[in-house]
Amino acid sequence: QSQELSQVRVDYHAALQALVEDGTRMVCTGRMHTDRICRFESLCYSTEAEEFVFFHSNYSVMLPNLGSRRFQPALLDLSSVEDHNTQYFNFVELPAAALKFMPKPVFVPDVALIVNRFNPDNLMHVFHDDLLPIFYTMQQFPDLDLESRLFFMEGWGEGLHFELYKLLSNKQPLLREQLKTLGRLLCFTKSYVGLSKITTWYQYGFVQPQGPKANILVSGNEIRQFSKFMMEKLNISLEGTPHEEYIVVFSRTINRLILNEAELILALAQEFQMKTITVSLEDHTFSDIVRLISNASMLISMHGAQLVMSLFLPRGTTVVELFPYAINPEHYTPYKTLSTLPGMDLQYIAWRNTEKQNTVTYPDRPWDQGGIAHLDKIEQDRIMKSTEVPRHLCCRNPEWLFRIYQDTKINIASLIQVIRQTVKSKPGPKRQKWASGLYPGKVRDAKCQTSVQGTTEAKLSVSWQIPWNLKYLKVREVKYEVWIQEQGENTYMPYILSHQNHTFSDNIKPFTNYLVWIRCIFNKNLLGPFADVLLCST
Ligand code: UDP
Repeated sequence: QSQELSQVRVDYHAALQALVEDGTRMVCTGRMHTDRICRFESLCYSTEAEEFVFFHSNYSVMLPNLGSRRFQPALLDLSSVEDHNTQYFNFVELPAAALKFMPKPVFVPDVALIVNRFNPDNLMHVFHDDLLPIFYTMQQFPDLDLESRLFFMEGWGEGLHFELYKLLSNKQPLLREQLKTLGRLLCFTKSYVGLSKITTWYQYGFVQPQGPKANILVSGNEIRQFSKFMMEKLNISLEGTPHEEYIVVFSRTINRLILNEAELILALAQEFQMKTITVSLEDHTFSDIVRLISNASMLISMHGAQLVMSLFLPRGTTVVELFPYAINPEHYTPYKTLSTLPGMDLQYIAWRNTEKQNTVTYPDRPWDQGGIAHLDKIEQDRIMKSTEVPRHLCCRNPEWLFRIYQDTKINIASLIQVIRQTVKSKPGPKRQKWASGLYPGKVRDAKCQTSVQGTTEAKLSVSWQIPWNLKYLKVREVKYEVWIQEQGENTYMPYILSHQNHTFSDNIKPFTNYLVWIRCIFNKNLLGPFADVLLCST
């Protein structure tokens, strides 16, 4: 590896002099440790101490300068999982003069992105926690281009899906263990530390039961841009492939099995008049799976990490997630949340086994595969009798593990019935006719005119022009919402209108000041911004 690093030649003398004279320079974004990413010049890492080192000199910069708050609890999260106490980043401080007494630094010439992977053996974690956040962190900082290098500091080996990480940059990612072979003191010429959490949609239940993140900031568009990038890197192109419609059953072969898979496949093929194929991580290469899913009409799978691959499905197609006995689909929604992100344009269907005679349990397996033999008898009995796993925290709840690692004989009639409630005709991609998800601008040139009729009646006429962007858009339905608020009151009267002017006379009083708020609405639920408030006096 040391050869790799010297591909770009560093003027060693100049680099050392810069380090000794300028020290480490850090400028971060983010107000809290959970949303912080830091850019460094001359950040070092001691492979013996396994600690990052910040060298102070007359020119060093540390922004934010938090003092000891840097340890409360940390400077930043190294993984995209929020505030996980095994994933914190910090550094120790030294005067640059101490370099005289330290091992000779080895310089890393590549721009580095230094992060922790969260769980590189689980495909959902790989995509959600690592690949998407790395991809979009790299988009955030222009010098994190394809020539930059990833450094994974969580301490794991390559893991099962290392080839996916390799797609994100042209340089081989380096693992913490490998840094030792490079030298005792490594100094990153330019580096970024931390990962953007802006694309994550799920929290795994460390502090409250798992569920969608409270404030999801990603849409299907960004997920699909990422999928497109991955497909290009994997050399998968759908051009020229004849469009044949088919259903993919993504099966697991080790645990959480579908026991009547052959029967299921026949039934699906018959019901939907489509070829139905099986794929699994054990029997297919990753590229093959992506190629097949990216052209499929429907993806059916047991709940599990492999379902994250639905991010490769074409728009308008269907995800069917199967849940073993006593598992409530509403409590475990990483794949539902993904499929139903705005603009992801997937139909999501959950099916659960409600028949105890169709489940096969494994009480005698090790605890991490759902065994419960280690529990006391009363607890074992309670779990065996329970018909639904209560909500729980991650990650070692034995009742959850027991139930999620059951095998299931699918009641095919009930599954097809559930699918048919959503998929009426043939499943498959649908063309989008309308510019969807585009919001109106403000209405323009809003004006009011008033008139008074006698001592109790008055009229208020309001008119406005269409939002500027409307003339460039094909919108199915354009409506306007007008709120009329008497000045000084907390309440207002709302109206939905189809035209660009209206005369209000109900509840309009003479010699009164009204505030009039107007906004445009596209297709019933795309609410635009209110224009500047109008003051109208009768
Ligand atoms: N896995 C698999 N086949 C199996 C069991 C697991 O391919 O029969 C994969 C699974 O997709 C995931 C990893 O192994 O990427 C870990 O699976 P686990 O059951 O621990 O997690 P889950 O799928 O419940 O997230």
